[in-house]
Amino acid sequence: MTPLRIPLLPAAMLGLSLLCIAALASGAAKAAKPNTEPRSVTGLIPRADIPANPTDPHAPLVVLDPGHGTRDSSGRITGQGSSGRYKGREIPEHELTLDYAMWVMADLRSHGIRCESTRTYSHPWFNVSYRGHDQEANNKLRAEFAAEQGAALFVRIHFDGSTNKADSGYKVFYDDQSKFDTPGKGGKGKLATQSLRAAKLIDAALSQASKLSDLGVKRFERPIYGFVYAQQPAVLLELGYLSNPHDCAYLLEPETVKGIAAAVAQGVADYLHP
Ligand SMILES: [Zn+2]
Repeated sequence: MTPLRIPLLPAAMLGLSLLCIAALASGAAKAAKPNTEPRSVTGLIPRADIPANPTDPHAPLVVLDPGHGTRDSSGRITGQGSSGRYKGREIPEHELTLDYAMWVMADLRSHGIRCESTRTYSHPWFNVSYRGHDQEANNKLRAEFAAEQGAALFVRIHFDGSTNKADSGYKVFYDDQSKFDTPGKGGKGKLATQSLRAAKLIDAALSQASKLSDLGVKRFERPIYGFVYAQQPAVLLELGYLSNPHDCAYLLEPETVKGIAAAVAQGVADYLHP
């Protein structure tokens, strides 16, 4: 079947703050050698106590997607996303998203919520094991992973980047473009409605935890694969601008990571247990 092709608008029309999203597409890769011990990929915020999933098979399941972190068959990183600098070293978005996701995973499991992730410390690369170098398929496969797992919610974790270093703040996107959604009488479909509710709850929780500006709940003006192919409610968090030195330094503070991860988990719990 021919994959749905999604026209991309010129970058100038999209705004450079969407750089990290534009960079989401990536190629295929062979499985990276697994790391056996939990660790921090940034080396700044280690999380070595990720609990196992709750044993209750009826507990709701959330799938996290730490953005970017894809490699092609030669091992070259193709989906790094945006990046920042901290104490003289580069902080790639794909590393920080994984660190944050593992903290969120630990907190969700502590809430009694089952949690899986498209990438983990054991499998830090998103490896497309089929369809070769089809870059556009990558985020489609991440969404399909969430569907295969039977997720109640698909939470994609990102950080922003902009050529304007003054750009700052966080925002929460909700999915109103799933091809699996069926619009109801009021226009929006069930998936979009649920996605919006999840986004509002997570944004509200973040507003209690993050010192960055709340840029609000938003929708994408153009289709993105990770949303178009989502078969469950989905949100995408842009937790701050790595291109902004203040945002970047703040996001790397251990207390920030703990607070924001706990807030994301709380927002998810509020969504799952109204
Ligand atoms: Zn990103």
